[in-house]
Amino acid sequence: MLSDTVKSELERIAGTANVSFAREDLICYSYDATNNPVAPDAVVFPGGAEEVSLILKMANSERFPVVPRGAGTGFTGGSLPVEGGVVLSTERMRSIRGIDTENLTADVEPGVVTGELQSEVEGLGLFYPPDPTSLKFSTIGGNIAECAGGPRALKYGVTRDYVLGLEVVLPTGDIIMTGTKKTVKGVVGYDLTRLVVGSEGTLGVVTRAFLRLLPLPEATRTMLVKFSSLEDAARAVSAIISARIIPSTLEIMDSVSIRCVDEFAKIGLSGVEAVLLIEVDGREDGVERDVADVERICKENRSVEFRVAADRFEVKDLWKVRRSISPALKRIKPTKLNEDVVVPRSRLVELISGIQDIARKREVVIASFGHAGDGNIHVNVMVDGNDPREARAGGDAVRDIFDLTVALGGTISGEHGVGITKAPYISMELTDQDIEAMKRIKRALDPSGVLNPGKIFPSPDTGAPRG
Ligand SMILES: Cc1cc2nc3c(=O)[nH]c(=O)nc-3n(C[C@H](O)[C@H](O)[C@H](O)COP(=O)(O)OP(=O)(O)OC[C@H]3O[C@@H](n4cnc5c(N)ncnc54)[C@H](O)[C@@H]3O)c2cc1C
Repeated sequence: MLSDTVKSELERIAGTANVSFAREDLICYSYDATNNPVAPDAVVFPGGAEEVSLILKMANSERFPVVPRGAGTGFTGGSLPVEGGVVLSTERMRSIRGIDTENLTADVEPGVVTGELQSEVEGLGLFYPPDPTSLKFSTIGGNIAECAGGPRALKYGVTRDYVLGLEVVLPTGDIIMTGTKKTVKGVVGYDLTRLVVGSEGTLGVVTRAFLRLLPLPEATRTMLVKFSSLEDAARAVSAIISARIIPSTLEIMDSVSIRCVDEFAKIGLSGVEAVLLIEVDGREDGVERDVADVERICKENRSVEFRVAADRFEVKDLWKVRRSISPALKRIKPTKLNEDVVVPRSRLVELISGIQDIARKREVVIASFGHAGDGNIHVNVMVDGNDPREARAGGDAVRDIFDLTVALGGTISGEHGVGITKAPYISMELTDQDIEAMKRIKRALDPSGVLNPGKIFPSPDTGAPRG
């Protein structure tokens, strides 16, 4: 609970119109994509770093939690105020302050929607590659905090590869600048940019980001390839990569995902066991050669149909189908235990067939799809969380999937972060020393523990998440 003094001070800092204690607003800001609602005591919409700083300084003196929030599309509960306090929304900080076409950089506020930045730079012949499938809603601040990836990570890397520098308000309220604003190099001091990127809103609030842009590729081709076995599709993925072809995207969908999207999109995908959605980009002559090579490799791996999208409308439709999988899965069961495991690409076939074995053993439906080209599969264990047997089987299946992933030399999260949902599992991948080193950094930057508490680290007593 916040005291009356804190409430009126929040209104003084951000302006009365930019603070709400109304129940209906608190409910709106109690969700992310995990569907584990927790209401805050207040939601504040600061206009910039100075206001964020004042709020955090007060949080330190009055001891209340502050939880940064972008669009709330996170899959691990990162923006949920699990210990109450203030949700600090970046909705008012959404201006693209500048795009430098000479140095190929952008200067943006954290609430800018990823897809809007992409459209803006593409209009200038430039390219911002990180493309989480949520790009129509997610924010640059949320992408930086989670180090978001997306289909194009295979060729272009993830958010961290495009962040040159950041303006960050530390948990104590100090405002710092990390990295550089416009230079592609810079090694003065520690690389605090890398520390903040992927820190899930626990080490600082990003209030401005300086991003690297690329020239827009000259040509792109999008292909849809059908297979009658998931293993054949996974083998084709490994064969494409080992033939030294790096598509800009290489996405896989299993039969459960295909059935689900086809039911509502009706694009004639049913009846096959796996689909690959492949995109190559670059110079016109190069992409034609890549398409021919990809077609040959897919046929060698027993594809049953190969199609190149005829025009940009078909490309748009195919991507709409891909982006619809995640929400469409809710048709199967109400609870989606969504994991984003990654294995070395050479172990993909073992992961895919291991997941099918786990589904049979635990008697649950598992839908697998995602960024196969970089070994990152979104594994969705579908259960009815209100049914105790199914809930238990779902939890067991998740643990089996993590065991398998780690045994294959992989990681339990490629892009969604730890938040609250993966906190109980981090010791499957990190040693006690690794975790203690991370906690020491957290304590050094946030001695009062006010910024986004209850995330990433499990409680030593219960295994439950704790800050
Ligand atoms: C349908 C769907 C598809 C998705 N596909 C992908 C995908 O392909 N790849 C991928 O990586 N993710 C994906 N996600 C997950 C999610 O969209 C990303 O994690 C995204 O980066 C979250 O952005 P957001 O603005 O919604 O952040 P939020 O969910 O609001 O917050 C996420 C985390 O960032 C912190 N945060 C937010 N803003 C700031 C800030 N300014 N400073 C400091 N911390 C901050 C929050 O505290 C929280 O810990 C998907 C989600 C959905 C629902």
